[in-house]
Amino acid sequence: MFHTSLIELDQNAYKQNLDYLRDKFGPDTVFSSVIKGNAYGHGIEHMVPMAEANGVRHFSVFSADEALRARQVIRENSELMVMGMIDDHEIEWAIEQDVSFYVFEHERLQAAAKAAAKMGRPARIHIELETGMYRTGFDKDGLSQALDFIARNQACFIVEGICTHFAGAESVSNYLRVKNQIKAYNKMMKLVERSSIPYKKCHTACSAAAIRYPKTTMDMVRIGIAQYGLWPNRETFMHHVVEKNGEGLAENPLKRVISWKSKVMSTKKVPPNRFIGYGTSYLTNEETHIATVPVGYTHGFNRSLSNLGRVLINGKRVPVIGLVNMNMMMVEITTVDGVKKGSDVTIIGNDGGIDMTVGSFSELTNRLNYETLARLPHDIPRVIV
Ligand SMILES: *Cc1c(COP(=O)(O)O)cnc(C)c1O
Repeated sequence: MFHTSLIELDQNAYKQNLDYLRDKFGPDTVFSSVIKGNAYGHGIEHMVPMAEANGVRHFSVFSADEALRARQVIRENSELMVMGMIDDHEIEWAIEQDVSFYVFEHERLQAAAKAAAKMGRPARIHIELETGMYRTGFDKDGLSQALDFIARNQACFIVEGICTHFAGAESVSNYLRVKNQIKAYNKMMKLVERSSIPYKKCHTACSAAAIRYPKTTMDMVRIGIAQYGLWPNRETFMHHVVEKNGEGLAENPLKRVISWKSKVMSTKKVPPNRFIGYGTSYLTNEETHIATVPVGYTHGFNRSLSNLGRVLINGKRVPVIGLVNMNMMMVEITTVDGVKKGSDVTIIGNDGGIDMTVGSFSELTNRLNYETLARLPHDIPRVIV
């Protein structure tokens, strides 16, 4: 079928996550599905229709190129928001396509006004506030200046939102910083109110903020990782467990959407005292039965999982032995019965009740779940199951 592995997306799991999260945040909070980074590796073209089928009508991307991709598949009445990079020459496209975008510096505001005037159509903007993350956003003076400019050029703008982003809401070590950001946001909102410029939504929360600081959910939440069925980190899951303790329930309400599968390419018996694969990193002690799997670091299976990673075959966890190659790896199957060419290999997912989680190999490589997912190559086929 012209591919060496396959990514499966579980639509029931996705629906369950959405039901849980939307129920938690309430009916008055718009759910924006964050689909940057190729929808966290799940694939924009697959995730958007799946989200829309479940009633999601708002999507967030990082940049104009991602918006362009999303635009090809998104419904006419769904909204698209760029949270980061958009070049001046892309702004006209955004206005034409009704794509809203963040502004966090005066130049972009001016460019937006210019493009809007030229096209005779307002730019839909979100004013990003600097509340203490120190990445992008208007500080107090910048905001005053921006509000003045918008007031003087009202016809050029529809202010869709006033927003900010928290600097690590998933970790209790950032508690004070996040609390101060919330305070700073509220304080700056007073300036906005005083300007009497109309705006539509206040939005500040990512998954972790929405889960740990319920007041941050406001008019809209921007949910990435949690909709894909993963907690931002283990601490956030613990927070959930503690919260639910009264009910004696600690079941995980989030279900992983993604699975990643391949098949055994070939098998071989290797005598004792032989090195497996390149170099000398793995030496057999006794006769060793190995299988090659046609997935390597070019496919997003990190080379640092050499002699360390695991996959599932026939419902058993089997170790990667030797170095992960560019296009394949070897795994040890001596004690697993019935493995042959074509046997299913689960890299992420469940086989026979055993789970290979995204976390299990993120941890081994010191990567965030976010990074592991976002690095999955775009050209592995995705199928919805
Ligand atoms: C990525 C991102 C989010 C979503 O974060 P999750 O932790 O995946 O929910 C929200 N807002 C902004 C500005 C982001 O960049």
